[in-house]
Amino acid sequence: MAAVPVLDEPVFSYLKPADVVRLGEAYRFSEAAHAGQTRQSGEPYISHPLAVAGILAAWHLDAQALIAALLHDVMEDTSVTKDEISDTFGKPVAELVDGLSKLARIEFQSAEDAQAENFRKMLLAMARDVRVILIKLADRLHNMRTLGAVPAAKRRRVARETTEIYAPIANRLGLNALYQELHELAFAHLYPLRYRVLAKAVKAARGNRRELIGKSLEAIRQRLSDAGIEASVSGREKNVYSTYKKMSEKHLSFSEVHDIYGFRVIVKDVPACYLALGALHGLYKPVPGKFKDYIAIPKANGYRSLHTALIGPFGAPVEFQIRTEQMHRIAEAGVASHWMYKDDTSLSELQKQTHLWLQSLLEIQNQSGDSHEFLEHVKIDLFPDEVYVFTPKGRILSLPRGATAVDFAYLVHTDIGNRCVAAKVNNELVPLRTELRNGDRVEIITASHAKPNPAWLQYVRTGKARSNIRHFLKTMQYEESASLGERLLEQALKVLGASATDIDSASWDRLVREIGSRSRQETFADIGLGKRLPAVVARRLLRRPDAARDESGATGKPAGSVTIRGTEGVAVQLATCCRPIPGDQIVGSIRKGQGMVVHAADCPQIVRSRKSAPDQWLDIDWGPATSRLFKAAIEVTVANQRGVLAKVASEIADAGSNIDSISMDEDRSVYTTMLLVMEVADRRHLARVMRALRRIPEVMKLARAKG
Ligand code: MN
Repeated sequence: MAAVPVLDEPVFSYLKPADVVRLGEAYRFSEAAHAGQTRQSGEPYISHPLAVAGILAAWHLDAQALIAALLHDVMEDTSVTKDEISDTFGKPVAELVDGLSKLARIEFQSAEDAQAENFRKMLLAMARDVRVILIKLADRLHNMRTLGAVPAAKRRRVARETTEIYAPIANRLGLNALYQELHELAFAHLYPLRYRVLAKAVKAARGNRRELIGKSLEAIRQRLSDAGIEASVSGREKNVYSTYKKMSEKHLSFSEVHDIYGFRVIVKDVPACYLALGALHGLYKPVPGKFKDYIAIPKANGYRSLHTALIGPFGAPVEFQIRTEQMHRIAEAGVASHWMYKDDTSLSELQKQTHLWLQSLLEIQNQSGDSHEFLEHVKIDLFPDEVYVFTPKGRILSLPRGATAVDFAYLVHTDIGNRCVAAKVNNELVPLRTELRNGDRVEIITASHAKPNPAWLQYVRTGKARSNIRHFLKTMQYEESASLGERLLEQALKVLGASATDIDSASWDRLVREIGSRSRQETFADIGLGKRLPAVVARRLLRRPDAARDESGATGKPAGSVTIRGTEGVAVQLATCCRPIPGDQIVGSIRKGQGMVVHAADCPQIVRSRKSAPDQWLDIDWGPATSRLFKAAIEVTVANQRGVLAKVASEIADAGSNIDSISMDEDRSVYTTMLLVMEVADRRHLARVMRALRRIPEVMKLARAKG
């Protein structure tokens, strides 16, 4: 193989002529050093470093990196020393090659020790110079592409290492195309049979849909061009590995995985992204909850794009990615795009982020005693599916991603979970629903009187928390109902001019016997759950003659009002039509077996019922304030302008509220009306949020939504 013609390949044409000459020298140097060595496939060894340099050239890496790529195995596999490389190609190249070379094996007790220590060396070299890891990843990619020639046992080991370390690093650095290919190759070698079967199924499914895909491509292009949006639209075939991952994570069969095909829309600028989104939502129906704005909130690796899922012509959800050309480059090549697009100033933020991450690796290194521990910490950092947090005493606990402070509390101890009232994350007081992030130091604040809240079930992620909360609520439902029943009975007695203190235990015993109840407590619970009418029980207790006649009916005119507490369990439910919050005037109605349902006094849903059956309704008051948040709904009409949703969301967050859900109307021409459900403490808090929203110029109309 002649050296110079190979390096004449167009892939190196971005280099200066002088650099191409130096590259030629490095090639000859490496070829001479590896002379007589062959790869498992039987090819001369030099074919490997040359291929690695070729992969790096596609990212337009500089001459130093390419020279180091050509020399990356000489120190390890030949007698060439670091000093020799330094003398011939300069110190920076020698440092890069050194960072890529494993330590001499003699020093280690076991293969695992050697592996861990080698990783530490490589990761530290990478923290000093990110080119080290880019060369290592290109090296690994070529080894994976040619893994077929390697014996089976080694193949599996290399494939597993790729899945555990190299693919996650590629992902962390935003090298998406590389990340996808590494995973695909590793999957094919780890599970050859699954890979073959699935690859065949994916191919067949695509074939069946080819015509429909072509038609929808046409429809999408037409719609965007009608809207005056310049865009390039392409189909995007998902690989076998990501289909497999979806099947195993969501427990789906192949026929249930709809999105083996997606679309990508590339437009000229950010405003056009949102315009294209609007146009596409007009073409196909969006799937609720699938819209993600990674432009407003980029991923940690710098990835930016709009994602949405639309019910496409197949009648099944199809994923869409909408981004600019510039975002697309970063999405494909991540950190490596720095070398490819030197004039792109938006990359400096990405560089800064990467630098911070690499710095954090150095910090981990300083805190970790040995290389195994270091490797574990780095793996933790690289794996997005789990978060690792610290207890106040420094113990590390692992939780699934998305887990909250409540999950943490239950993981520490059931009692701590049951009694938690607040959490401190990194010494700052946060709501219990706060999602925990890697490295957070979490402290749970408990109170002896505290109880689990049914609302927690909506956000806890761990089975342990969920089952404990459920169990507690079952017990609590009974106690809550009994306590509500006792208050309702007290009120009914008051109407009859009596009080609970007037009733002796003999009267109670008699009543319990008569009505076939097991205890006084059970009678209260039955009242609270609406199984018995408080007025009837009150008359029977007082032995009033008209008791029997009233068995069917009314509770009588209420005297004063019952207070409900903020943390009511199942015995008191807040109606979801009007979503009452503290400060609202409220009324309650007892539903058989459900306890009391609380509505806002002006809820339009209950007007008729309150007129026709006024005696079924009780005036009630809110109890003293608690830390609980309540859901309130508002209707907002906004001018359709880019980023308006982001503005609304950020004002709501700034006002200390959380958005629970957003639904939008179909017509998205000039104005959009959204129904926002958010969490607030009370009416004053809601008023504050609404005032903040009114200040947004695009907000045209704003009102509380009831019913
Ligand atoms: Mn190599």
